[in-house]
Amino acid sequence: MGFKPVRHASGQSRVQCICDDCGREEVVCADFQNRNGFAKQAVPKLQKIGWAYVSRRLRCLSCEAKRKANHMKDKVETVVEKPDAPKEPSRAQKREIILWLGEAYDAAKGCYVAGETDHTVAETLNVMPGWVVNIREEFFGPDGSNEDLAALKQDIAAQITAVEAFQKDLQARLLQIGSDLGGMKALRDRLAKIEQAVGPRVMKRVS
Ligand SMILES: [Zn+2]
Repeated sequence: MGFKPVRHASGQSRVQCICDDCGREEVVCADFQNRNGFAKQAVPKLQKIGWAYVSRRLRCLSCEAKRKANHMKDKVETVVEKPDAPKEPSRAQKREIILWLGEAYDAAKGCYVAGETDHTVAETLNVMPGWVVNIREEFFGPDGSNEDLAALKQDIAAQITAVEAFQKDLQARLLQIGSDLGGMKALRDRLAKIEQAVGPRVMKRVS
């Protein structure tokens, strides 16, 4: 890879330039009698068509574009990366978390008291939520739910019972309506029969 002197059919000396990344080839005119000089002659010609020769590595137009893009990405990622956030809580932080969990967590019920979660504790103490999770799991109990959730569950159960009762009532009423309707239709049919039996004239006189 890199530069390789070749002699053209015409007898002219040329340099075959090979991309070190993808192997793409380009041939440019250069005098390779001078062993050290031909790369120097070839490089400016290559640069004109977008190639690059950086740290003794030759890259074609597209490989150079890729390298630049990656370089930019690395730069951006380096900037975005946070300064070393502590991975572990200090002893003082651990004690604080344990103390706070003693208030916020109901060990007997195995859940947080109303309004508290791993996140609220972490926020109050200004620590990583993951630390609270670990200490809570180890010394207190499962996250499971909290009292709010338990209350919500009860609430929903009560609502389901109420809606079920309403549904039953509706079904009973529908049955009633059905039977009322049946009765009215039967009456209508009986009237129609009477009408037929009596005949149109009599009916007119009656009305
Ligand atoms: Zn290439």
